[in-house]
Amino acid sequence: MHPLDSIFKPQAIAVVGASRRPGSIGREVLHNLIEFNFHGKVFPVNPKADFIHSIKAFPTVSAIPDPVDLAIIVVPRQEVPAVVADCGKKGVKGLVVITAGFSETGEEGRRLEVELNQTVERYGMRMIGPNCMGIINADPEVQMDATFAPTLPLSGHIAFMSQSGALGVAILNMARQLDIGFSIFVSMGNKANVSGEDLLLYLEDDPNTELILMYLESFGNPRQFMPIARRISKRKPILVVKSGRTLAGARAASSHTGALVARQGMDIALDALLEQTGVIRVNTVEELFDLALGFSKNPVPRGNRLGILTNAGGPAIMATDTAISLGLTMGKLSERTRTALRRLLPAEASIQNPVDMTPKPDRTKYEACARLMLEDEGIDSLLVVSVPPIMVSAMDIISGIEELRRQFPKPILGVVMAPEGFFQELNEQRPNHMAIYHFPESAVRALAAMERYRQWREQPVGEVRAFEVNHPAAETLLDAVRREERNQLTAPEALSLLECYGIPVARSRVASSPDAVAALASELSFPVVLKAIAPDIVHKTEVGGVVTDIRTPEELISAARQMNEEVSAHRQDASPPLRFQLQEFVRGGREVIIGMTQDPSLGPLIMFGLGGVYVETLKDVVFRVPPLTDLDAQEMIRQIRGYPLLEGVRGEAPIDLKALAEMLQRFSQLVEDLPEIAEIEINPFLVFPDVAEFRAVDARVRLADGAV
Ligand code: ADP
Ligand code: MG
Repeated sequence: MHPLDSIFKPQAIAVVGASRRPGSIGREVLHNLIEFNFHGKVFPVNPKADFIHSIKAFPTVSAIPDPVDLAIIVVPRQEVPAVVADCGKKGVKGLVVITAGFSETGEEGRRLEVELNQTVERYGMRMIGPNCMGIINADPEVQMDATFAPTLPLSGHIAFMSQSGALGVAILNMARQLDIGFSIFVSMGNKANVSGEDLLLYLEDDPNTELILMYLESFGNPRQFMPIARRISKRKPILVVKSGRTLAGARAASSHTGALVARQGMDIALDALLEQTGVIRVNTVEELFDLALGFSKNPVPRGNRLGILTNAGGPAIMATDTAISLGLTMGKLSERTRTALRRLLPAEASIQNPVDMTPKPDRTKYEACARLMLEDEGIDSLLVVSVPPIMVSAMDIISGIEELRRQFPKPILGVVMAPEGFFQELNEQRPNHMAIYHFPESAVRALAAMERYRQWREQPVGEVRAFEVNHPAAETLLDAVRREERNQLTAPEALSLLECYGIPVARSRVASSPDAVAALASELSFPVVLKAIAPDIVHKTEVGGVVTDIRTPEELISAARQMNEEVSAHRQDASPPLRFQLQEFVRGGREVIIGMTQDPSLGPLIMFGLGGVYVETLKDVVFRVPPLTDLDAQEMIRQIRGYPLLEGVRGEAPIDLKALAEMLQRFSQLVEDLPEIAEIEINPFLVFPDVAEFRAVDARVRLADGAV
């Protein structure tokens, strides 16, 4: 037995704080349990009443003579600790604490919540909440509605986890209108004891749950969430609504990576995380339901080729446009299908996909045409559009199409552009009907998500490679920096750090003055690059601190003198002395950027994109959460807009993309091994068709404040 079974499959429930007062939570929970026909015993607990809702009541949980598995607690906050302790003594194993006033209210509440959870743990109980609206298990074997929501749920195969109680009520209501049935519904509340991850793990093995929906306001622990979600989403689709958020105070970022994250603001971090776990993110509850409808009532498509059957041109065009823009393609009908359609339809009908039957097809026509399209090997999913014609009943057409659902394992979605009354009638007359939408765009959006999900499910699981690196040397290097109480590495130090992880860097030497540069000049092989180095110089080019392609010692010496003057003019007198980096000049190559910054809530985030001094102008970058698998790395490279530049345009040779992916993975390993790094960025990393020529020429590393 799973520990959470006492919560979701109890034999006996105590409702502590049950009440006679209509409209009160204590009365509504009890009422819903009875009204939904809970398959077990229910005990109202209330010291001031002998019976509630015609049922014998008990003064305390421990006064109940029978065993109790689950207690639903709705008493005032100050009474919660005593009730919970009483439950513990009685041997209750599961708690749902609906009472609010805990960590959501501030310091005092947070303290109470910690204490509450200690009691729960001491007795080996598990608790949902506090501050939630209850739970439902609509499994016909259980039939438990322990919420105070006014709408009873339909039984089905969708699990819903909500962080917002108020939204949960609305969702139950909307789901009912849309004919969407639940397996399990959980309002998670403050998640003091049972976390979102715990629930996901429970749902993973719940035979009744085929699809998981989540409404999230905050992420618990992304590091825990990732591997769990990645595994579960291969078996059961997970859809998440996460409301947008701006990055807590776009801090003054010293790196391009930080600046790009701050500027794009929002949720790139979260999007990156979800993309890597196969979780499908939607932006609104409306979209969540559109997708849920499609997923829950259909098999996953076998491919991206859509067929559209319609009796009006307009909606079919809208559907086609949306489909193409979301990555679906219009399936090509075979000669055979077209000949058969031609025989069925009037001359003015269009027998190319979208098949437009013209305004007045009846049920038989719809069914026959849909059958032909579904039989066609070139069609993976079918959208049936009906703008209800006069004299023909849309209900009739749907019943025809529904016959086909049983025969073809392909998604079939309907669009009926009819008044609201039609949908009500539909729910009443045809419970468990096929997915029907008001608008073609919503239906196509659902199909596109289902197709993306297929691709995710079929995609092999990537692998995180462990490279042989020199971790101790990297630590030694960082120790030396910390001993000097610095948190910024110089560019040469940063490059040395990369070398420890097998990332090739341009050869370079450091000179402490223009004279020292002159003294070294005769030993160098030209051409070289000269750069100004000082802790206060962030972007060297901006202060005249980079001269490339220097061909002779004379040129170098004069460049050093001039740079010394020019850069010094930009600096304050008290600045530490300027030093110079002499670096091999790397000719040609394409400039990319590889960076990492810390998201305040999600942790490290790796960025890849087109690099160089224009990176913030181009903003052609993608993000992923480490550790990067080989697939993550390949995808990052493929997903930037400038990807064709790396593949080679106009006859250019392609960059060694396999080697580039390996560099990203080595970088990811560095980030994972050295958590004291707050920000790191290679810009530019010069890449070539031959990996032997790859060079990092500039890098920046900042240590976390606490690390110094
Ligand atoms: P910063 O980013 O601080 O301005 P960089 O060291 O990145 O300074 O140099 C600026 C630009 O100069 C690079 O984006 C690159 O185009 C070019 N560059 C720098 N070093 C080299 C080098 N060793 N070989 C070739 N080009 C270089
Ligand atoms: Mg640079």
